[in-house]
Amino acid sequence: MDYHPRRFAGGIESLVPTSVLQVRSSASSEVQSNPTIAPYTTALNGVNQTQNNLFRDLLWISLGAVGVIILLIRIAELAWAKLRQVSAMSVPREKQGYWKISQWSWMPGMKKHMIYAPLFGKRHNREFRFSSAINVGTLPSRLHATLLFLYLASNIAYMFILDWTQPNYYSFCAELRGRAGTLGLVNMVPLIIMAGRNNPLIKLLQISFDTYNLLHRWMGRIVVIEILIHTIAWAIPSIANSGWAGAWKAVTHSAFLGSGGLGTLALLLIFIQAVSPLRHAFYETFLNLHILLAAVAFAGTWIHCVTASIPGGLPQLSWIITIVSLWIADRFARIARLAWVNWSDKGFADALCEPMPGDVTRVTFRLPRYVDIKPGTHAYLRFWGVNAWESHPFSIAWVEHEVQHSLPSSEKEPLTALDRSSAYTLVSFLIGAQTGMTRKLFNTARASEQGVRMKAALEGPYAGHHSLDSYGHAVLFAGSTGITHQISYIRHLLNGYNEGTVATRRVTLVWIIREYESLEWVRPFMDQILRIPNRKDILRIQVFVTRPQNPRDIASTSSTVKMFPGRPNVPLLLAKEVQEQTGAMVVSVCGPGALADDVRGAVRAVQGHTVIDFIEESFTW
Ligand SMILES: Cc1cc2nc3c(=O)[nH]c(=O)nc-3n(C[C@H](O)[C@H](O)[C@H](O)COP(=O)(O)OP(=O)(O)OC[C@H]3O[C@@H](n4cnc5c(N)ncnc54)[C@H](O)[C@@H]3O)c2cc1C
Repeated sequence: MDYHPRRFAGGIESLVPTSVLQVRSSASSEVQSNPTIAPYTTALNGVNQTQNNLFRDLLWISLGAVGVIILLIRIAELAWAKLRQVSAMSVPREKQGYWKISQWSWMPGMKKHMIYAPLFGKRHNREFRFSSAINVGTLPSRLHATLLFLYLASNIAYMFILDWTQPNYYSFCAELRGRAGTLGLVNMVPLIIMAGRNNPLIKLLQISFDTYNLLHRWMGRIVVIEILIHTIAWAIPSIANSGWAGAWKAVTHSAFLGSGGLGTLALLLIFIQAVSPLRHAFYETFLNLHILLAAVAFAGTWIHCVTASIPGGLPQLSWIITIVSLWIADRFARIARLAWVNWSDKGFADALCEPMPGDVTRVTFRLPRYVDIKPGTHAYLRFWGVNAWESHPFSIAWVEHEVQHSLPSSEKEPLTALDRSSAYTLVSFLIGAQTGMTRKLFNTARASEQGVRMKAALEGPYAGHHSLDSYGHAVLFAGSTGITHQISYIRHLLNGYNEGTVATRRVTLVWIIREYESLEWVRPFMDQILRIPNRKDILRIQVFVTRPQNPRDIASTSSTVKMFPGRPNVPLLLAKEVQEQTGAMVVSVCGPGALADDVRGAVRAVQGHTVIDFIEESFTW
């Protein structure tokens, strides 16, 4: 069939899905327009707005449905965990048999093959690397990959449901342009929500920022491709109508087209600069450029929507207003948090940075107010004089509240309201020196053996939505500085055991370090833990030293702490724990990707008829 557009010049009105709107663009009026093509380069001519609205709604509904389903699952999980905690917290370990056995026979299989499964084989968080400097990224889990695939497939399907019988190629382009632009802008809303540190869905759905970050990256890729298609679908009729020079002139002389072009260019640059090797190698440059380019893309899209030759602007105007508002709200929330945590009538926060063996800095913040910090949280830190414009995430290892003119108190002794008003919060971190800010910080701290005190700011705490209180048995794996995440739970669980507020009757910590000297990192915290009454009842610590300088150091000093040279056999160790399982078990890991993958593999292998949950805290995104 001959699709030459001129054959249909007389019948355009009847061929387009929506009525042809008056073209007001000054740029288009300057060129000798082809009446078969020109209308499809602007406004909503040829755009099937009815279908666009349908697919917009379908995307909203599918995203909303996933959110509601996850919310319902979370509510059920929380209710179940609360029931387990309340019924098990006052009974001895041997009476937790009911909670040990999985009540749904399909659940262990579901965990093994879907919820905890890597996409293929065993690899999930161990990064693919070309060399020590080139990090190609990690693979999403099977569950995440399935959700992402379904979302991608729905976007592709919506993109392809077009009027393929449309004989006017340029009208078809306009329909594609409208569809791609609509889908791109719809996807920008969740894209921005997922990028926010203060995203309320983190708390509501108890999904970590890590996961939202993964979804943000994939959704970002979808948005860029859709906006590129939108732009190309405009360029084809435009070039056909007025040539390359005419199309370029239109872009450079019209605010509507110029802003659209600028937005597309910014998104394309984001796409390129966000590829994993570049992102990981120059994270701070990536982040700052990313924010700048995102701002340009938003501004471009906003102007594009406002200056369209349609009364009231493009229909997507309200969405871009929503997107920008969400973005600004997150920024304000961050500033408000920063100001509240670090500043009070008692002054500003500062931090003591102590050099530790193994190129680690132990940092203790002194916040000038009472801040309630849960186990498993992290915060973003800035240090005055050490790349102060950068803020990096670190897990919170230890928290103390210090009342003026009194000794520090552990979380065990609740402070009165009066104490709280005069309290300081001491928050400790262990920061391994990499090549950027963390290395500079270590070098600064090294200037004095006692450490260096400097002005600093803490933004947080964030996360901390995993409660271990309802598990009878917790097995915590830590690799190197990953101990920070686990140690915060240990004190909480031991205190809870003594107070009868948690179901936990056994805690096994497995910590893998390179050198014996690394024990120094946590010595003050461990001293306190080992002084907690009844800790022998429930706590076992196994320290594996992979490169001991002096084998005689590797001696087990107490029944609680056992030391071993070399690496642990994770599957064997976990199988042994499962043999002695007390109530429901949780296995948590925080450390390098290879360790996390080993533990994940071992947890999948022991899925049988008992309850064994898995939590991974990752230090990369
Ligand atoms: C939730 C979370 C908790 C963490 N907790 C700890 C901890 O307790 N102790 C610890 O030693 N490390 C922790 N990390 C890792 C720590 O954030 C990075 O090692 C640190 O940001 C590296 O800074 P740098 O400038 O020296 O990095 P570089 O040497 O420039 O880069 C090293 C690596 O760190 C990544 N990185 C750099 N900047 C950031 C950033 N702002 N956000 C995320 N990743 C970044 C890079 O992509 C690269 O892969 C945690 C990371 C996350 C995401």
